[in-house]
Amino acid sequence: MRYHVDEHGYYGAYGGAYIPEMLYPNIAQLQADYKTILQDAEFQQEFQQLLADYVGRPTPLYFAQRLSEQYNTRIYLKREDLCHTGAHKVNNTVGQILLAKHLGKKRIIAETGAGQHGVATATVCALMGIECVVYMGAIDIERQAPNVARMKMLGATVVSATSGSKTLKDATNEAIRDWINHPEDTHYIIGSVVGPHPYPDLVARLQSVISEEIKNQLTQKEGRDYPDYVVACVGGGSNAAGAYYHYLDRPEVGIIAVEAAGKGIHSGESAATSALGTPGIIHGSKTLLMQTSDGQITEPYSISAGLDYPGVGPMHAHLFTSGRGEFISVTDDHAMTAGRNLSRLEGIIPAIETSHALAVFEQREFLPEEVVVVNLSGRGDKDLNTYIKYFNL
Ligand SMILES: *Cc1c(COP(=O)(O)O)cnc(C)c1O
Repeated sequence: MRYHVDEHGYYGAYGGAYIPEMLYPNIAQLQADYKTILQDAEFQQEFQQLLADYVGRPTPLYFAQRLSEQYNTRIYLKREDLCHTGAHKVNNTVGQILLAKHLGKKRIIAETGAGQHGVATATVCALMGIECVVYMGAIDIERQAPNVARMKMLGATVVSATSGSKTLKDATNEAIRDWINHPEDTHYIIGSVVGPHPYPDLVARLQSVISEEIKNQLTQKEGRDYPDYVVACVGGGSNAAGAYYHYLDRPEVGIIAVEAAGKGIHSGESAATSALGTPGIIHGSKTLLMQTSDGQITEPYSISAGLDYPGVGPMHAHLFTSGRGEFISVTDDHAMTAGRNLSRLEGIIPAIETSHALAVFEQREFLPEEVVVVNLSGRGDKDLNTYIKYFNL
């Protein structure tokens, strides 16, 4: 079984590029050129330099002593929360802005739900002095005011999507429409391992620096380059794809994916795509998604804005279906408790997305000698208001 993308853009039965004809030239160009550009010496030199000096990589791999004692196993935290802008998303946007420059593009578009990807995109556009337009659902603009302010502060234009449910999928439709109208000068930066081929593989490669570093860091700390398990939360799946990437073909490494069960898998308010999803097409790719029997996408719910996506990337759909990955889902309540637990045991306040991954230790046991790496995808500053309300702080 293979877990990396094949030459047609598929992970098993999932992936591909289901796009309007008008987008063929753009997608075909990306498909033809992305690997060559990523492997280009000048690209790599600039990318590695920015990851080091701008993003702050390598991020530490921290042995969490007190958390390990609590759960009687050996837990390491990969500190993506220490990246510039507070999460892993910037690894991808730094890479894609350089790709856009290599393609000769002068303008960037993106869509965002919670605003985190919009901020990471606006950040690198400011860095490069490139025009940035971010599409965002009208309801999300209201819900995520601080991130809208950040994008504007960084010089981006935020365009409100007012059709449909006025959330992420409507913003995506607007971004695609924009790209169709500006095929020559514009690059579309997608923020997770979703979208038509080659985006899932492109984003996974840019995020794979996470598992590249874990290999080096574990070699130093444990004398071997792999853990027994690597655990990550999955919204679209980019931080997970980066943390798994170099271990996908290493059967000695268990892969654990944590989804948001919201108020309970069968409560009607959840984002547990592996449990509830069926094959369908979303955002230009064939994958598992939450939909009604007549194929309408179901509005997802999670207390964490970054996990409330109605699908998962095709790599994750394949990891789930093939049995290579172990998928669990964690409710709002269990995630919030795990987030407070980490704060008090280790002095690290995680993003609520990340808190879902940390709840794995309440749902599943590990042996005392096993090494478990949890990808700490982001920091909790952006979520303080939610923590305050939830715990009545
Ligand atoms: C956006 C986000 C996620 C979810 O996105 P993935 O593509 O699944 O990684 C997870 N954690 C944090 C901190 C995020 O900002």
